[in-house]
Amino acid sequence: MKFRFPVVIIDEDFRSENTSGIGIRALAQALEEEGMEVLGATSYGDLSSFAQQQSRASAFILSIDDEEMAAETGAEAEAVVALRKFVEEIRFRNADIPIFLYGETRTSRHIPNDILRELHGFIHMFEDTPEFVARYIIREARKYLDGLMPPFFRALTHYAQDGSYSWHCPGHSGGVAFLKSPIGQMFHQFFGENMLRTDVCNSVDELGQLLDHTGPVAASERNAARIFNADHLFFVTNGTSTSNKMVWHATVAPGDIVVVDRNCHKSILHSIIMCGAIPVFLTPTRNHYGIIGPIPLSEFHPDSIRQKIEANPFAREALAKNPDKKPRILTLTQSTYDGVLYNVEKIKETLGDFIDTLHFDEAWLPHATFHDFYREMHAIGRDRPRSQKTLVYATQSTHKMLAGLSQASQILVQDSEERQLDRHRFNEAYLMHTSTSPQYAIIASCDIAAAMMEAPGGTALVEESLTEALDFRRAMRKVDAELGEDWWFQVWGPDHLSEDGPAEREDWLLRSGDRWHGFGDLEEGFNLLDPIKATIITPGLNVDGEFAEQGIPAAIVTKYLAEHGVIVEKTGLYSFFIMFTIGITKGRWNTLVTELQQFKDDYDRNQPLWRVMPEFVAARPQYERVGLRDLCEQIHGIYRDNDVARLTTEMYLSNMEPALKPSKAYSKMAHREIERVAIDELENRITAVLLTPYPPGIPLLIPGERFNRTIVQYLQFARDFNERFPGFEADIHGLVVEENAGRKHYFVDCVQNS
Ligand SMILES: *Cc1c(COP(=O)(O)O)cnc(C)c1O
Repeated sequence: MKFRFPVVIIDEDFRSENTSGIGIRALAQALEEEGMEVLGATSYGDLSSFAQQQSRASAFILSIDDEEMAAETGAEAEAVVALRKFVEEIRFRNADIPIFLYGETRTSRHIPNDILRELHGFIHMFEDTPEFVARYIIREARKYLDGLMPPFFRALTHYAQDGSYSWHCPGHSGGVAFLKSPIGQMFHQFFGENMLRTDVCNSVDELGQLLDHTGPVAASERNAARIFNADHLFFVTNGTSTSNKMVWHATVAPGDIVVVDRNCHKSILHSIIMCGAIPVFLTPTRNHYGIIGPIPLSEFHPDSIRQKIEANPFAREALAKNPDKKPRILTLTQSTYDGVLYNVEKIKETLGDFIDTLHFDEAWLPHATFHDFYREMHAIGRDRPRSQKTLVYATQSTHKMLAGLSQASQILVQDSEERQLDRHRFNEAYLMHTSTSPQYAIIASCDIAAAMMEAPGGTALVEESLTEALDFRRAMRKVDAELGEDWWFQVWGPDHLSEDGPAEREDWLLRSGDRWHGFGDLEEGFNLLDPIKATIITPGLNVDGEFAEQGIPAAIVTKYLAEHGVIVEKTGLYSFFIMFTIGITKGRWNTLVTELQQFKDDYDRNQPLWRVMPEFVAARPQYERVGLRDLCEQIHGIYRDNDVARLTTEMYLSNMEPALKPSKAYSKMAHREIERVAIDELENRITAVLLTPYPPGIPLLIPGERFNRTIVQYLQFARDFNERFPGFEADIHGLVVEENAGRKHYFVDCVQNS
């Protein structure tokens, strides 16, 4: 396999006609003749951007200004200062890339030890032939590149290169089948040879097996376990949705009591149904922006959980049969959907050994273990104490925050002092949920996503995200300050921001009673806002849930942004959400700032929609002549008149009465013992399906629970709103929509009344 990684030379004489220039160009030519690409530069320019070349280069050759060094005595020469800074910038990101120093008359005597230690050698051009020096550099560069490859990716590239004929599936036989049809040709040309060559099935022995964790796959899982500081780590190629089900099926059996974050991902609710569990829920706070806050620490107290069990008829019944029964598992969404984190040590301490399996759904948090900013605010990591009895699981979507392909996920396990994971038993659950034909490109991306986070590179990447996220927030504040009294968007977060540099942890801890978060009383040091998750607040609603005269519903802003090439992660009523993953660039967030300014401009001038959102208007001509501000006012007016912020907050906090075990309600679905009930008739009926409004995409009602008044009111509001504002519909998964005489009617599948 041939990879392109040029040798980067930095020498201010690279294009000069002096001896130094002639020497370095002779070396460059010799390198090229040996088949190596060379990139020549005459200065570093911006040091830290130039240091980013480390990801593309196979080696650096740096020259130092001889004359200047010879002239200066005593104080360190400027050239040495620059060299040191550059070497530091490289080593901050990359511990291994070879760095050579080039100079004709200087020797190591002139270079301070702290720099020497980071170098792979000195080059004196006129002592050896350029060919000899070139080969030496190439050998070091190859050794470096070869050492980078983690086990599975290495095996896969070797396999692709071997060019063996396959008789096994998949049927496209390394892509050949596509070549037999014109549309297949297009597919082949688009995705390319390597993707198709390496799309193999699990009968290729040399690649190892994902399903029983052998060979190069197992070696890569061990490698990732080391990098993430876990005792065990399993790659999963069907997303964290599947990882969650694996953890649950390995732990929970029918009739077990389980403790679950009410704002969990739907895969956890699916797990509850599949495992036949009896859930009791921990209730998070919410503020009036619709942002989900933390579950208070007191909710984790065993007494509080016992009370919840007592209050649940099914749990009570289970306990009556078996008084020693303890909850089997506790699952927490670690990093809520808006970026609020929990101190895991405080949770462990509060729970004691009441529950012996803790599961942190860290779909949005695989980066945390690589930076001290997040210490204790994630499940498993370096120097984290082991529990006496409690096994800790974390499930992470490598594809959400790190560099995994879609569906790349992993399960991390920390053993307890007294109990180690029984890997064979665990694998029974793993097999239950894994396809027998896993996608090898996804396995390779799990491998690479982990290897990329190897120290020091991982820390550098996370630090970069933190710095960019803060620079974005600072830029937004600067715009606000310049606008004075005029309106602008706010980024949800603490009042105090450091002037420059990365985030300061103290600033981001949620303190009791602070007005900005609106979650009221909180335990000291229990929660942290992850700065790389940014909620942008639009005008119109304050943190107390009071509507302003004028307002800008977020759905309009995000539709506008989408037409201008900016796609956001999720949209609330008066807020939307973006993330600074390790893929963030300055260009990306600066574009967002300028697009928001464009929006403001168009809003202030009440530009007609045909002009500013032409694609939207093409599909919905009724808005053609409506002004942007007028549309905002109309929708804002409806939200205000219906006090929607309060309605949505209250419906999530309202009392959900469990009338059937979730698995029981679901089985009614399977047996078709259900009725399709119109939304006006829903009060007191028992839902057979999961009901999830978007935004925020958090399940509202789970199978077996009864509809209450607040929820029915919300559904009626959504129906009326959708009728008035097509194109801005609230999307509610679980509703059945039937069209009749041009009108939409909404139903929910409920359990038949017996
Ligand atoms: C996205 C998400 C999941 C599911 O992850 P996938 O990799 O998309 O399957 C699980 N839990 C939470 C909290 C999520 O946000």
